[in-house]
Amino acid sequence: VKHSESIKKDKQVQFLHQKILVNKEIFYTMSKTIGILGGGQLARMLALAAHPLGIRTRCIDPSPDCPAAQVTECGCFAFDDVEGISRYFSGIDVLTFEFENVPVETVKALAGQYEVRPSEYALEVTQNRIREKEFCKGIGVPVPGFVSAESMTALLAKPEALFFPSVLKRTTGGYDGKGQWRLDSIDDLVALSSSSKSFEVIMEEFVPFDAEYSCIGVRSRDGDMAFYSICENVHVKGILFETVSPPEHDTEGMCDILCSYTRKIADELNYVGVIAVEYFQKDKKFYFNEFAPRVHNTGHWTIEGAATSQFENHIRACAGLPLGSTSSIGHSLMYNLLGTKGDVDALMSCASLHYHWYGKSVITDRRKVGHVTQMFSSHDQLEALRNRLGALVT
Ligand code: ADP
Repeated sequence: VKHSESIKKDKQVQFLHQKILVNKEIFYTMSKTIGILGGGQLARMLALAAHPLGIRTRCIDPSPDCPAAQVTECGCFAFDDVEGISRYFSGIDVLTFEFENVPVETVKALAGQYEVRPSEYALEVTQNRIREKEFCKGIGVPVPGFVSAESMTALLAKPEALFFPSVLKRTTGGYDGKGQWRLDSIDDLVALSSSSKSFEVIMEEFVPFDAEYSCIGVRSRDGDMAFYSICENVHVKGILFETVSPPEHDTEGMCDILCSYTRKIADELNYVGVIAVEYFQKDKKFYFNEFAPRVHNTGHWTIEGAATSQFENHIRACAGLPLGSTSSIGHSLMYNLLGTKGDVDALMSCASLHYHWYGKSVITDRRKVGHVTQMFSSHDQLEALRNRLGALVT
């Protein structure tokens, strides 16, 4: 009897031991810390998504009261302070970023210490509009016609290469429509060149698009890729105002075409994480506009409208965990709150509406300060919802 009891005990000890080992493994995976460069609303929503998974986040932002600082640890450093960032990020497992204008030199300097997801190469490609368009053209993703020059004066020196109407853009540093101008004739370019400082520019064909779309995908470390339902977007004065997913207007084969272009871009970059690619549609053709190497404003609806949000999937991909399902839960309509809280009481009284406020300390004109997502079940409801919500969010 004694003998069999001691065998039983041994087995119990063995079992417990195995359990501890398994738990150690789980503990290691789930206790990862992800460092995020940037502390805006995207970092805030990434940190909130990481929380239930037991994954820690730490952010860097020059502003101590940035939106992410209210929900996670935040270090106050300039983005070019490699030494300070490196000290603050000591012990993190993975480095990611929430905006594409973070200095690539900083990311390259930190890449020796941590895994960087997505890679610094993806960041470098998207930071320059010429590089980005040439990259896409080179892999067979259609882009609008373009010509580039060191400055507007240099552009004026090649009149045979110019075309109108066109959109002139700074090649670096632009966002939310800043640093771009619609040109209808050479006179517009002459006037602009005399009033602007010298910087590198790209002149793009103006695409009189029927609609704008974005395709948001997530790619794992092993190269698996999943896509969210396509988003149809409306920009006002260059800033995103409305997103509907699934799209209201659906050109035949659109989903396959946009997902295949997006997959090509992600595969070529050996990408890890969420990628968002914006496209113009004219008749039956699609043109690449730009890609964001990060979670994207047009994917905010996925927090409530998809099985796994873009934020959680980015965290999962960064942590090397399996991706979650990108399936939609019904239809979603998202509005940005631009420099206003909107009619909070009325909005919060709408059934199936989710209100998000980013906690920004400074609310300026047309700044993205929050968003709302309205869930709905059929496109027949869309016009009525637009009429009601359009008035409450402005
Ligand atoms: P940003 O990076 O500042 O968001 P984008 O290049 O995406 O700049 O341009 C912002 C918006 O301006 C686009 O969503 C689109 O509405 C309009 N736009 C930009 N480029 C073109 C173009 N070539 N033709 C027509 N509209 C354009």
